Amino acid sequence: MSNKVWLVGAGPGDPELLTLKAVRALSEADVVMIDDLVNPAVLKHCPQARVIKVGKRGGCRSTPQDFIQRLMLRYARQGKCVVRLKGGDPCIFGRGTEEYDWLNAHGVEAEIVNGITAGLAGATNCAIPLTLRGIARGVSLITAHTEDGSDLNWQALADSGTTLLVYMGVAKLADIRQQLLNAGMRVDMPIAMIENASLPEQRECRSTLRRLLDDAHDFRLKSPAIMVIGEVVSQSTVQLKQLSA
Ligand code: SAH
Repeated sequence: MSNKVWLVGAGPGDPELLTLKAVRALSEADVVMIDDLVNPAVLKHCPQARVIKVGKRGGCRSTPQDFIQRLMLRYARQGKCVVRLKGGDPCIFGRGTEEYDWLNAHGVEAEIVNGITAGLAGATNCAIPLTLRGIARGVSLITAHTEDGSDLNWQALADSGTTLLVYMGVAKLADIRQQLLNAGMRVDMPIAMIENASLPEQRECRSTLRRLLDDAHDFRLKSPAIMVIGEVVSQSTVQLKQLSA
């Protein structure tokens, strides 16, 4: 007999940003498999569970995806309730549906539980409105990090009039900047870089496309960080100044 696997979004880091459903899944789990961007503080909701760390952080030593999937399958087939805890939302750069499909194909029922994705959490925590009437009619969630070397359509992104929300961008800042300059984005386009969003150690660096590399260097920007590129960034500065005036 197989039990269900819950693919659970643990949110951006602040344990209070877990959903009630995530807390329920954790409290019912026999086995919890936890990614390394997940704040271990959330494990207070599953003192009964066996916890297995399965970090897959880019550039670090990691547990191969195939191994993680087989482990989930093994425990589910033993009749255990398995929770796979992923940072942010499982379906935003998180392979959530890959694992969901793979489990289904192997006869195991899976359910995906939303989490608050880091980009949305970071922007909101810094009072940056990703959409704003008359300024930004949408937001594009993107990553410059690819496994197959394919590239984004930077021209279309630069012309889209949407706020760009960049994941996994820290190691690619120079490339992202160059692509946007090539696409004609103005050099004083405001940018915010938000490190460790929603955690006590959250830091925010405001910059522009022109100064991006110098500012990131001076700030000693480190992963995990998200980047917000768009007019909305300066809008929030104006609003914050007005608020504190
Ligand atoms: N599924 C996750 C994203 C995984 S990709 C989500 O929905 O949030 C990993 C990237 O997410 C990191 O490189 C970074 O860009 C971003 N990220 C994750 N946690 C973060 C945090 N607390 N603060 C800033 N960025 C974060």
